[in-house]
Order: sequence, then structure tokens, then C-alpha cells
Amino acid sequence: MDPLREGFLYHLAQTSGNPLALDVVSAEGCWISTRDGRRYLDLVAGLAVCNVGHRHPRVVKAIREQADRYLHVIPYGEFIQEPQVRFAERLTSLLPASLASVYFVNSGTEAIEAALKLAKRATGRTRLIGCRKSYHGSTHGSLSLTDNEAKKYRNRPLLPDTDHIGFDSVQDLGLIDDRTAAVVVEPIQGDAGVRVPSVTWLQGLRQRCDETGALFILDEVQTGFGRTGKRFAFEHSGVVPDILVLGKALGGGLPMGAFISSLERMAMLSHEPLLGHITTFGGHPLACAAGLAALEVLQAENLSERARSLGDRFKMKLNHPGIREVRGLGLMLAVELGDADRVQRAVHRCLDRGVLGFWFLSCPTAFRIAPPLTISESEVDLACNVILKAIDPD
Ligand code: PLP
Repeated sequence: MDPLREGFLYHLAQTSGNPLALDVVSAEGCWISTRDGRRYLDLVAGLAVCNVGHRHPRVVKAIREQADRYLHVIPYGEFIQEPQVRFAERLTSLLPASLASVYFVNSGTEAIEAALKLAKRATGRTRLIGCRKSYHGSTHGSLSLTDNEAKKYRNRPLLPDTDHIGFDSVQDLGLIDDRTAAVVVEPIQGDAGVRVPSVTWLQGLRQRCDETGALFILDEVQTGFGRTGKRFAFEHSGVVPDILVLGKALGGGLPMGAFISSLERMAMLSHEPLLGHITTFGGHPLACAAGLAALEVLQAENLSERARSLGDRFKMKLNHPGIREVRGLGLMLAVELGDADRVQRAVHRCLDRGVLGFWFLSCPTAFRIAPPLTISESEVDLACNVILKAIDPD
């Protein structure tokens, strides 16, 4: 066996029995190159991470410049580090005034954990509510709010006092009560197979949280940074959360998460107890420099608008009797085939023809399209031609 492959299989913990195991040597824009000389058009973007494409020159430059100044110097919160401050200033300048204070962490799931802690602290309550079919991460708190039993049953007991309500169910809003610390919601469910809720439901959720004093935590880990055709998905509905959770594309390709709330609420993390959330690496200067550069690219290259028009292009071109539906907003799309075996076959056939697609955790009958937002029209057309052929019967 090839020694690298052997090392990968035997010395790296495996997460599935059949990883794709592409042996990557470089990635640029929307393309990933492998050691065997092949190139793949990337419709996954590192799972909604590489929104500005792989190795965008501005992001690489920012990382290089910061690497020449300093790397890690101290755990989060003690020193003034310019990349953290500049990035937080730029981020909050794009958000409503109630979301003024940023806490940078290392991943989406850590940001969810910290947001849950903040909600319990701020309300003095314990009950936490998530939505059916949700995904919020793989650590204990996030998993408790996630509604995917296959991922949970080996890890019980999880957090007590957690419940799930129907996503997009107006009727279930009544289950949010004055014992509820927070309701955690994805504005568009990602791993459930890209499910877009009604604006009325999101508005009703905001109203019910206001009535009961529960905090509204919006998980934009997957939907943020132009992915859905707006900078943040909450801009589609205008419904502003109490705590906004970010990750994935936030770090421009480096690992990063964040939770954002009001100055008053975030101030609670600094006393009783002191250091209410602690992270050694959160707000790493390299990740902040990369994230700021990526945000500048997002704006300079109008990537949210591109996501909108190119998403429409995918929907228009992906016409095939085997496709039941192409769901989603912007470049967060699910191609519904209605059958898990056909999805497996289509994804593998695409791969054979140089197009990288991927599955969903909780929707075996569809596959995802979430390319870098920098994808060109001709690359979209190429991808669609390959997908259509991959869906054709033998
Ligand atoms: N929330 C959502 C909506 C996600 O899609 C994910 C990851 O896929 C997470 C949270 C967890 O993020 P991470 O994998 O960075 O912990």
C-alpha cells in the first residue's frame, strides 16, 4: 500500500469505514489537486468554509504578514492583539447594534457551548431548546441540542433539561416557556438536507422568546459569510438573535468560531466566576488576520450577490427527471434524488469525472452543493453537466 495512505489509515483516527481519502497536494480557487495528478472541481468548500476560495491571495498575504509579527502569545482576553481588535470591529460594524461584543473561539461547536453557558448565566434558567433534525456540533452540549439520535445514543447522559421543537412549526412555539434559557436555531438547517423555514416562523420564534424571556441563539456556523446570498442568513428575515454563533468561513480557511452578543450580556463572562469561558487559542492572531482578509474579499468581490445568482444558475441548469428538487438559498443547496443508493452512485460518479460533491449527516436522499462563492459561471456549467450525466441511468 502507498505509505501515505497506510499512515492515514493506521495512524490517524478514522471517522468512517470508507473515507474518500483523496491525497491532496494543493488547492487553489475552486480546484483541489491530488498526488495522482488529478484535479477536482470543489463543490464542498471544506464544508462551507472556503467561501472566498482556496488560498485567496489576500488571505495568504495576511497570514504571511501576521506570521512575520507574532503567533500565539497568551490565552484569549489578556493582551491587546491588533488582528483580534480589527476583526471584531469590522465584524460588528456589519451587525445590528445589539450584537456589539465578540468572543473568538476555535470552532463552531465551542462557540455553541459558550453561547449555551452564557444563556444559562444571563437568564438564571436551565432549560435549553433545539429543533428537530438540527446539527450544532459534536461536543456534549452541542450534541444535546442536536437532534440526530444516531450520533447521540452512545454518549448519554447528555445535558439535562433539553428539549426539541419542530423546525418551522408555529404550533410548537408554545413549548417555549418561562423556564427556557435559550432556543438554538439554524436559520437554514444544513445537515438536515438544507431546509429553509418560513419567515413567519422565525418572527414567531423571536416574539415567543421576547414573551418568555428566553434567549434566541442563532447558529450561523454554516450559513454565514455570504453562503445563502446574504452576508448573514438572518438578513433574509430581519430577525435579529440575542446571541449570534459563527464558525466555518469565519476564519478564511483557518480554524475559528465566535459568539457575539450585547456588551452587557458578554460582560457577565468576566465576573462570578471570573473567566466565565476560557480558551487558550481562541482569537489566534493568524486566524483573525485571515478572517479579516476573507471578510474584506467577501465585500470587495460582492460574493453574497454572486452566491445568489450562481445558486439560481445551478437551480436552472439542474433539470433532470431523476432530480426531485434542488433546495436552498444562494450556494447552500441540496440536490434531492429521493433515494440513498442513487445519491451514493451520483456522488461517486461525479468524483470519477473530477467533481467533488458530498453527503449530508441527516439526509441520505440528497447531496450537497456548497462550492466556494468565487466559482465562475463556466465552472458552474461544467459542474452541472457532470452532475446531470452522473444521475443518468446506466
Ligand atoms: N453548527 C452548524 C450549523 C454546523 O453545520 C456545524 C458543523 O458542521 C457546527 C455547528 C459545528 O462546527 P464545528 O465542526 O466547527 O465544531
